[in-house]
Amino acid sequence: MKAGCSGGGCSSGCGSSGGNAAPRVVPEIDSEAINTGVPFDERRLNLGATPTKGTFVTFIDLDLTVECNLRCTYCFKEKWNEHMEERVAFDAVLWLLHASGPTKNVAVNFMGGEPLLRFRLIKKLVPFGKRRAWQLGKNIHFGMTTNGTLVTDEVVSFWKKWGMGFHTSIDGTPEVQDRNRPTTGGRGSSQLVEKSVPKVLQYRPHTTARSTVVPDSAATLVESYKYFRSLGYINVAFVPGGPSFWSPESIQAYEKELMGVCDLVMDEFRQGRFIYLKGIDDAIQGIIRDKRPNHACGAGRGLLLVDIHGDIWPCHRWNKDHHQSWRIGNIYQQFDDLVRAELDRPNHTDLLEQNCEICVANKFCAGGCPAENLEETGKVYKRHPNACELTRVWARAGQYVHDVLLKEGNATFMAHYYKDKNSQLN
Ligand code: SF4
Ligand code: SF4
Repeated sequence: MKAGCSGGGCSSGCGSSGGNAAPRVVPEIDSEAINTGVPFDERRLNLGATPTKGTFVTFIDLDLTVECNLRCTYCFKEKWNEHMEERVAFDAVLWLLHASGPTKNVAVNFMGGEPLLRFRLIKKLVPFGKRRAWQLGKNIHFGMTTNGTLVTDEVVSFWKKWGMGFHTSIDGTPEVQDRNRPTTGGRGSSQLVEKSVPKVLQYRPHTTARSTVVPDSAATLVESYKYFRSLGYINVAFVPGGPSFWSPESIQAYEKELMGVCDLVMDEFRQGRFIYLKGIDDAIQGIIRDKRPNHACGAGRGLLLVDIHGDIWPCHRWNKDHHQSWRIGNIYQQFDDLVRAELDRPNHTDLLEQNCEICVANKFCAGGCPAENLEETGKVYKRHPNACELTRVWARAGQYVHDVLLKEGNATFMAHYYKDKNSQLN
């Protein structure tokens, strides 16, 4: 089910964790500390607070908490130590089952903060959602975006039992990870994540090592790639974050390093191993497909966020005080079709304020992350110039890999990208 940050060059992926000294026991939230905005007694799930027009909602991000055990240097979350009350979480699942209308397959992605801080709630919520979906003749899939620091054997067993998916974030070599993603106590988080990686890869070998790259780490991609491979990752994403922090020099360093990573990836192809490299893969798919996608992601269309208060937003990057005009509603109050209509359009690329016609990335770029655009330029359909330039780096690197391996007739490359064009490139 495509709905999340699949193609937006999204730099989200904030993490959390407890620090090297933190116990590996998953802490549970103190329910006394909960603040839901709407007084408890007044809250009644409003099944009328669902879309009356436009796309059915089939996927929600669910912020179980905004508490986090990491303090990533680039994190965009504004609040700390606030948590979703259990009842709101259960109601949000019921809300999705109704907001999805006749659609049979729906999905929930637990987010935060760090969602595994709410593992005890998750253990009740998933069986509840599965049972209620079954009663309504639907299928519901659960997943989570976690920083990987609280993944225990019990967590992995639970994932396996319920077929859950997950996204994990790891920024690079221990030095990079410790610098970018310190714990609340200011210590590094690399050791915590390293302990989780074997469990995670044993369950899902194709899990992506998802790295947020900032200018300070732009010159470390080759080393980080080697490190990820040594851990066993075969899917890797180096996603630049915070476009306004980049300079021409740091973008140049990013391109040089990414080209170095491409050379290493091509060597692996030559040895018969397929390595997925986010951005490069997007660019190659675009070259072969020769048709631009209409949307970067599903935000505000099939995908919405329900935050800790039950408020509804386009996705997990929008629920900020200064974005109040983008609040779509609340599961206990109302759903504003007009607010959502700004995003629920058949084509976003036609609305972009860039010169996409002459851009080398225009076969795969659909305008980047709309939420990031809003933060950087004040407009959903206008990108920061650095964001475009960083996307063009992906385009040039993808073209390089495509042309070299195509010329060589590399069997692994051809089998993956050209064997069955129709099925591979959708
Ligand atoms: S708008 Fe939201 S879902 Fe879309 S790419 Fe950005 S962060 Fe991801
Ligand atoms: S100009 Fe910017 S938005 Fe348009 S295709 Fe190029 S990178 Fe994407």
